Amino acid sequence: MVRGRQVVIELTDLTFAYSVADPIFAGLDHRFEPGTSTALVGRSGSGKSTLLYLIGLMLSPTSGNIAIDGIAADALADWQRAEMRARLMGFVFQDALLDPARSIIDNVLEGALYNDVAGGDTREEALALLSRFGVTVDSERRPGQLSGGQAQRVALCRALLGEPAIVLADEPTGNLDDMSADIVWDALLGYAAAGATVVIATHDRQRAALCTSIVEVGHADPA
Ligand code: ADP
Ligand code: MG
Repeated sequence: MVRGRQVVIELTDLTFAYSVADPIFAGLDHRFEPGTSTALVGRSGSGKSTLLYLIGLMLSPTSGNIAIDGIAADALADWQRAEMRARLMGFVFQDALLDPARSIIDNVLEGALYNDVAGGDTREEALALLSRFGVTVDSERRPGQLSGGQAQRVALCRALLGEPAIVLADEPTGNLDDMSADIVWDALLGYAAAGATVVIATHDRQRAALCTSIVEVGHADPA
């Protein structure tokens, strides 16, 4: 169900600081396995999003390593990191972040356009995903009229299109009604069970407990 081979993410002695004096976390070791979902939990400001963006190769470690599929990401050029991200990863952010100037279907196809694989089959796949997640409005319309829950389900379709080996989600159900939150959460856990490596930053400990494993981010003792 997941495209290509399955991908391990390995963090080794990972330290990250926005300012030198005050690292967000230090010496973090963790291995994220295919077929698992991992919740990154911690209080607000503990560094959950930061860790997710490091894994997503959108930030670089202050020290330590991130290996994805056995490749040390810090050794890669920016374009190689972007290529790896496009090929292996899907993202879901808290506020869907759909492009208001593009149709719903083009929002779902966005990553595929980047990957240069937006042919007829990909369009069919996008429509099938929208249908599967109950987005029943005309997909040629702009997303402006969508409810938050519908918009996030569109964002979920965008993340799952092309069946990436890794899905990263940042507070994906933060602003959603329970029904949409259940749909999004179940989809992420189901996608992990199908062989993907799924990492979800969340402050929702009840939902986090449904993941295969939990990583506590940040200092154990709040300052
Ligand atoms: P969480 O997602 O757990 O709420 P974040 O990863 O967003 O935490 O933030 C961790 C800490 O880093 C917070 O103290 C936040 O204010 C700080 N921070 C986040 N982004 C930046 C940035 N671009 N520059 C400087 N500090 C930042
Ligand atoms: Mg956050």
